[in-house]
This record gives sequence, structure tokens and C-alpha cells, in this order.
Amino acid sequence: MPVRQQREPAPVHPDIERVLLTGDRIQARLREMAALIDRDYADREVLLVGVLKGAFLLMADLARYVTVPMRFDFMAVSSYGSATQTSGVVRILKDLEQDIGQRHVLLVEDIVDTGLTLNYLLRSLRARRPASLDVLSLLTKPEQVRVPIEVRYVGFEVPGVFVVGYGLDYAERYRNLPYIGTLRRSVYETP
Ligand code: 5GP
Repeated sequence: MPVRQQREPAPVHPDIERVLLTGDRIQARLREMAALIDRDYADREVLLVGVLKGAFLLMADLARYVTVPMRFDFMAVSSYGSATQTSGVVRILKDLEQDIGQRHVLLVEDIVDTGLTLNYLLRSLRARRPASLDVLSLLTKPEQVRVPIEVRYVGFEVPGVFVVGYGLDYAERYRNLPYIGTLRRSVYETP
């Protein structure tokens, strides 16, 4: 007898207190943003620059919905240790592999919190004279902004709480969760 395929919703990780965005909701929003990218870059080739590690799932999923020609590159930065507060200190751990002069660069970020990381990255990229430079961020935390930055494509605005999942970590864990949620206090508060 043929086996009928069923989609079993993945059980929520026991360390997650609340799911803020389901995987389906994230994917639907990525399709919408991809349609905007297709429209805005209709006659240009876009260079997607993913900010590692947080943007790795986002890059992979978004890229499959975009249809205009594109190239990829990645940067890796560190702005957080395992704490849940931004330090304001940004270190480039891995730089781009290509010259972006004359390219249409779209920087793909997981989350803009205070804006300090992005502000630093944009200054570094702008100095390399790309033909255009825009930002896509899956999440923004409008309550937290310390450096106002124009994010052209925003997935979702979230409250000023620490979130994990869909690329976002706590101490390098939870990046693989297909949804975004908050952690139980017991996970980061050691008794
Ligand atoms: P910002 O410099 O804008 O304050 O912070 C940007 C970086 O901090 C993000 O790329 C991300 O790595 C980290 N970050 C900010 N808010 C959160 C959050 O709620 N959860 C996680 N996991 N990382 C965050």
C-alpha cells in the first residue's frame, strides 16, 4: 500500500517559551520580499551579501524565491559573545571575497537591534564604492534603535526581547529552529 506523505509540524523545542513567528509565516514573508527584489532589481544583477552566521538560513531560503540574476558573498562579524546584550564592538572575522565596486549590493542581515553592527558594516562597504547599497533585514527591533539606519526591506518588526531561531543563536545554539521565538528564562539565568 502506498505511503501517504504527511506534514507533521515539528514539535517546539523545550527551551522555547513562546513562538513569535512560525516557519510558514517567515517563508510567506520571504516570498513577498523576493517579489519586491525582483521588481527593484529587474534590469540589474544583484550581489547578495549575507552576514554570517545569523543570515545563513535566510540567504538560502530567500535566494530560492528571487528570480533576477544574482551573485553571492558573505561576511562574518562578531558583535555578541554569549550574552544577550549588544556590546557595540564589531569585529570583521571574514571579509568579502570580491570587489564590490560598481556592483548592486544587497546586504542581508538577520536582525537590526541597536543598529551598531549594521552602521559599522555599511560604512565599511560604502567606502568600497558599490553602484548601490541597500539592506534587507528579516527582523528589526524599532524600540532598541540607537543608530537610525534605512533598512529597505524589513521582514518583521519585533519587540525589544531576545529572540532565537531561524539563524539566530544563544551561545551558538538554536540557529536551526525553523521558527523564531523567545527563550525560557531558566536557559540563560543560572541559579
Ligand atoms: P545590533 O548591533 O543591531 O545591536 O545587533 C546586531 C546583531 O546582534 C545581530 O546581527 C545579531 O547577531 C545580534 N542580535 C541582536 N538582537 C538579537 C536577538 O534578539 N537575538 C539574537 N540571537 N541575536 C541578536
